[in-house]
Amino acid sequence: MTVSLGSGSSTCGRRLIVSTASTRAWAIPMLNELQPLPVAVSPQEDESGLGFLLRCSHANGVALPELANLAGARSIRWMTARDMEAFAFLTGVPPEWLITRLKTRRHVDRRRRYSYLGWEWGSIASLRVKHAQVCPECLLECAYCKAEWEVTAAPACPTHQTMLMDRCPHCGTALSWLRPTVEICSCGRYLRRSAMSTKPSARILAWCAAMKGRLERNSAPVLAGMRACALPSWLAHVSPDGASRLIHALGALGRAGERMSSARAVEIPSPGEMAAVVERGLARADAMLDRAAEKTQALRLLVYEPGLQRLAKQGVEAADQKTALQLLKLLGSEPLERRRLGQKRGGRPSKGQLELFDHAES
Ligand SMILES: [Zn+2]
Ligand SMILES: [Zn+2]
Repeated sequence: MTVSLGSGSSTCGRRLIVSTASTRAWAIPMLNELQPLPVAVSPQEDESGLGFLLRCSHANGVALPELANLAGARSIRWMTARDMEAFAFLTGVPPEWLITRLKTRRHVDRRRRYSYLGWEWGSIASLRVKHAQVCPECLLECAYCKAEWEVTAAPACPTHQTMLMDRCPHCGTALSWLRPTVEICSCGRYLRRSAMSTKPSARILAWCAAMKGRLERNSAPVLAGMRACALPSWLAHVSPDGASRLIHALGALGRAGERMSSARAVEIPSPGEMAAVVERGLARADAMLDRAAEKTQALRLLVYEPGLQRLAKQGVEAADQKTALQLLKLLGSEPLERRRLGQKRGGRPSKGQLELFDHAES
């Protein structure tokens, strides 16, 4: 059977063909039954895998879901190894190039682990899986999606000193990966910045540049941010997942003693909300260096302690676990295991501690 997509004829070479035996009409095509797409697209070094696939589908006159059908992929959100190989073959890029730039998940010790950009991620909330965010100025200049835009804790573009955008300014819907192409929303209009957008602070921009530096294993922007904007020194050692989870634990609560449901703890904030979390988190990281007892007590009610506890126990890198433990110590809080033991022996945590402890279990 021959499936052709797009409007080209077989003689002009713009026809997508996949040959399958008629008995396999709805089966996943074998890799050797696929043909590379007629129009090849050059990948960019810092490009997102999904953004690249979106550009390839647009260049070949098909929508991304059609390209996914052709590849035999059921979902573009979580692809199997075979799906990614099929996409790599269709688009003519090395499989490892594409796989590194797509988010993948697996189980490790009965917990979900994610991989993206050559890093391990322990929390799904660290990555933007469902919806995209973009810098319209970057899109105007280079028309491809940068891989770092899929990292939740990087809400601004350091190059253009602007906030990223996760909604279309025209129709207001969250940006979909199934939009026609990288710079056009599903409503058909170009993604341009609205005049109302807020400017990120110098500290947010330094944080985002440092996050990008960590992702690329380039220490220069991290050190520059530490010097110019007093970013915390742990940023130089922790993984991007660790940095995301630390800043979330420090900055997620808007006020002292605020309750945080487990659903809210993994909610993906808008870039504006994320910037507020980072601002608060950095201010609290500064305040932690002041060891005055009454300040520590006040800080403890502002920090989302279960987040630090989980990172101390399950951080994807030793540096993440160590930093979470150090911050818990600065707050005068014991790691969870020891506290549990204390309870068994009749030890009783203070009231404030107990409340936070309850949230960790919910
Ligand atoms: Zn930009
Ligand atoms: Zn729109």
